[in-house]
Order: sequence, then C-alpha cells, then structure tokens
Amino acid sequence: MTEKLYYKDPYLKETTARVVEVKDLGNGLVELVLDRTIFYPEGGGQPSDRGLIEGDGFAIEVTNVKERKEIWHEGVLEGRLPEKGEEVTLKLDWDWRYENMKNHTGQHILSAVLKKLYDLDTTGFQIFEHYNKIEVNGELDWDMITKAEIEANRIVAEGIPVTVEEFKYLPEELLKTLRKHVSKVTDRVRIVSIGDVDRTPCGGTHVRNTSEVGLIKVLRFYKKSRDLWRIEFVAGNRALRTLNELLEDYWSSLEEMPNKNRPLIERVKDLKAEMGSLEGKIEELRRELWRWKGLALIDKAEEIGHYNVVTLVEKWPMKDAQAFAVNFVENNPGSILLIAGENYVLFARNEEVEVSMKELLSKVIEELGGKGGGTDNLARGKVEAEPEDVLDVAKEKLRELINSSGDQ
Ligand SMILES: [Zn+2]
Repeated sequence: MTEKLYYKDPYLKETTARVVEVKDLGNGLVELVLDRTIFYPEGGGQPSDRGLIEGDGFAIEVTNVKERKEIWHEGVLEGRLPEKGEEVTLKLDWDWRYENMKNHTGQHILSAVLKKLYDLDTTGFQIFEHYNKIEVNGELDWDMITKAEIEANRIVAEGIPVTVEEFKYLPEELLKTLRKHVSKVTDRVRIVSIGDVDRTPCGGTHVRNTSEVGLIKVLRFYKKSRDLWRIEFVAGNRALRTLNELLEDYWSSLEEMPNKNRPLIERVKDLKAEMGSLEGKIEELRRELWRWKGLALIDKAEEIGHYNVVTLVEKWPMKDAQAFAVNFVENNPGSILLIAGENYVLFARNEEVEVSMKELLSKVIEELGGKGGGTDNLARGKVEAEPEDVLDVAKEKLRELINSSGDQ
C-alpha cells in the first residue's frame, strides 16, 4: 500500500519515493505506483494533483492520479522508462493543490453555514478549474445567499484552526456532532473539524486555518430538479480570477452596447426590442419583394391548358422559395409555379388548378431520376438534372397530364 503523505502533511510540496510498479501505456504515456506519495488521487469531489516525477534520465509530467487498489500516477514521459525500485523525486504543482485545499475547506464552511442558517444538507460537491459546485436539498434566493456568504466570510476572517483526526471506530457522542451521517466505518475515517463550526467526515486535503481560504463567493445558483438546488461558488485566489473574468465579460459587453449606461439587462432589452421591430420591417419588405417578383413572373407566364404556368430557376434556399411559392399561387388564381433551385425542385399550384403537383413531380422523377413527394398542392424533391432541363421536362409532363385529364 502506498503511504499517503498528503494526509500526514498536506503542505508537503516535494519529497522522494521509490518506484513499485511501472506501466508503459504507449504514446509517451506512463503509469507508476510508488511506495509513498504526495499526489492526491481524484476523489470526494477534489480533482487529482498535478506535478512532476523526476529520476535519473527521465521526467514525468503527472496529469492524472487515480486510486484503484494502488495509487496510480499517470503522466507524459520524457526520457527513458523508469525501473522498479529506483528512487524518484516528486514535485507538486503547488498552486493547483493549494487552491484546491482552499476551495475544499471553503466548501466545508459554506455547507456548515447553509446547514446552520437554513437546515440545508449538502448532497454533492465537485471542484472544477474555475469554480466549485455543491448541491443542496432546498430552495434558495439571493437574499439567503448573501446572508450565507457574510457568515462564511466571517468564519474565514476569524482564523479558526482546521484539524483532522483519524478514527477506526466512531464513538456515539462524536457521531451526533457530525454534519454528514456516517453509517458504518469499514476502514479508517477521517473527521475534519473547523473549531465548533463544522465537523464532518472527509477524505480530501484542507488548509490548516480558515484564514487561508480567502474570499468565499457564490457565483450563481439554480434549481436542478424537484428538491435539488445547485450552487456554484469559488474561493481562494480562484475567486479573484473568476470574478475578474466575469467582470471583464460584463463591462466589455456593456461597452459594446449603443447606449453604454448600466444596467446591462436594460440595454439587452433595448436591443431585443429593436431586433423585434427590424424583423417586422424585414417581413414587410419581403412581402413587398414577393409582390413585385410575382407581378414580373405572372407577366411572363405561359398558358398551358387554361392555366398560367410560371417557371423559375432560383438561388434562394428551399425554405424561402417555398414561402414565396405558397404566397404566389395563393394570390394568382389558376397559376402553377415550377421552381428549380440548386439542389431542389418545388412545384406549387393555386387551389383552382386540378392537376396534382405530387403526381407531376413523380412523373418528372420517373423520367430524370431523383426523389421527393408532397401533396396535390405542393410537392418538392431533388431531381438528377440541370434546373433548366428539369423545368422543360416538368412543362412537358404537365401538358401530358392536362391533355390526359381532358381538362382543356
Ligand atoms: Zn473535505
């Protein structure tokens, strides 16, 4: 079993160890088991440590540490493969670990405060690179959040010692004081205490004193499911970085607005209102365009049977062509509109026309190849031919259909 130095002294940033097992994963990746380690393996919501394992003639950039019976250190190998039994030097990415310790301890404080103020239980916790999330079993609002933040930051400022004790058996009196329920102690359980503020079982790494946690700030909260609320918060130097990222985003967004006066939400509403009115104007202009285009087309219509047949090679996307076609045949009694686009054909008829567009399309496909379908009023598809040829064939088939129905 690897000796867990990160529990004995979470502030140990560098040490030596011996290689117990080596696995070459290929692609320059390697996995090591050591006789002892300062690398915390992923678990309990805290991500695994990062850092370096160095030996004579090699270095491993540790990217992932996982506990599967043994603690496996995975990383990118530079140099030769390490050998069993040889000595290596371990160096933590201390900034990463220390910020994780601050955020983890910050979580204990925030969860304790939410329990004390609102009787909310924390049911989930996870540290991410820029923030942390916890899940609680009840409703929240900004007023409640502000009160909890003030209390949490008061505890930070008070500089309360954080202590860890290991137990093989938990006495009844101690069990009663825990924030989180422990059902059965199978191995050893670590109890993390923050003065009288909080006492909870936890397998992570924590700072020695609450004053190290720095600012605890909630970023957002929302309802996740019926009785589950998620809170995103951040502590330590990460709080300053993350808040500054958000503020930079806020102020640069406001700066992009035509009117740069706060609040941003009012400016967003202004823009949305303007977009709405522009959409209305675009719709008006589109109708106007359709009207003119319709007039020009009907002028060039060819009479087949007693119908006015219009053919059109069109660059519009099918959706726009269809909207126009529906509008055109609706406004022109006895009209048929045959459109061939770059990768579609679209046939539409006015309600007075008796020839089926679906049937017409299937005749065209029969001759030229392709696929498609639709209704008697509107059919669309894809035909394997040049647009002009499609339209010629369509007119020819239309004539045949009109003649065969004797509808002259
Ligand atoms: Zn913890």
